[in-house]
Amino acid sequence: MNKSENPFRPILLCRPVFEQMAAYTYAALPQEACGILIGQGNHQNAPISVSEFIPVPNTAEDPLHHFRLEPAEWTRLLLSKRGIIGLFHSHPSSHPEPSRKDLADLQAFGGLFSIYLIGTPAGTGTEELKLNAYRVEARMDKDERGVKKIQSLLPHTFEIRDDG
Ligand SMILES: [Zn+2]
Repeated sequence: MNKSENPFRPILLCRPVFEQMAAYTYAALPQEACGILIGQGNHQNAPISVSEFIPVPNTAEDPLHHFRLEPAEWTRLLLSKRGIIGLFHSHPSSHPEPSRKDLADLQAFGGLFSIYLIGTPAGTGTEELKLNAYRVEARMDKDERGVKKIQSLLPHTFEIRDDG
């Protein structure tokens, strides 16, 4: 394996993408913001880079605490956009860590995403975003009813890039 194939190298985020996610998170307050990430590296061992963030309206019944990608827009993007690699959403008032519901909802996406980002307003008075990145990984889970594949989230490092 050469260095560029190392699955543990950081996820690369273009600075404009990061800034757009931050601005959208603040604009959506007090509700959760959500959207999808476009980029490269939607394979187990490929390096991942995120080049675009596409906001999607949040149509959860309780948008202060949950998110749901607006179904029509999500379907449209799924059919028209190449390079969908991940999901972003915000936690306006809790830590940027996946909730039980986030993990339950993730199963419905069936391994479509490689990465999962959660942001929280940093509370510094500026539009700073505290961001956590996760890799989506399928693993086999065994219970009394048998073995099934579940999508799990593993914390992963990321880097914000000023170039390219
Ligand atoms: Zn969440």
